[in-house]
Amino acid sequence: MRKAIYAGSFDPVTLGHLDIIERASKLFDTLVVAVLENPNKTSLFTVEERKEHLELVTQHLHNVEVASFRGLLADFAVEIGATVAVRGLRNAVDFASEYQMYLINRKLGKEIETIFLAADEEHLALSSTNAKEVAVFGGNIEFMVPKEIQPFVIQKYGK
Ligand code: ADP
Repeated sequence: MRKAIYAGSFDPVTLGHLDIIERASKLFDTLVVAVLENPNKTSLFTVEERKEHLELVTQHLHNVEVASFRGLLADFAVEIGATVAVRGLRNAVDFASEYQMYLINRKLGKEIETIFLAADEEHLALSSTNAKEVAVFGGNIEFMVPKEIQPFVIQKYGK
């Protein structure tokens, strides 16, 4: 059975993330979408909230599970029996940092393969950070964030 992991901050989950999740779920028997708990980073949503959001938007995908983890992605992957890490690539900047991460994982001797899915052109300029920057000024985030999640983002900014 092929199990893959797609990890990120998902603060909040965007349409770009969801596209990668939908496409990756077709390539593996099980896809675990894992929220990285990073105590050094301030986030808009708690880890629990982000997990709830991911569960909501992946309800239609029956082989997708939602989890959270602390520490190294590769360690968590081994713990849950995932052999592949899925990453999304938007541009050359993503590529440079993702490739470094891949090399570090190899150096750490972790037996996890990384596969990269190219972002859809509609999502090239999309990031959680951008979505928050638009939302903070009351802008329309319809094209950035799944519709179920929009009210939560808007509510956080008290609009
Ligand atoms: P962000 O970069 O938005 O903070 P994350 O840390 O949650 O996002 O990213 C998790 C993974 O999703 C990374 O592999 C990242 O390259 C990918 N990703 C982020 N935004 C998009 C997008 N719009 N389209 C495709 N992949 C994306």
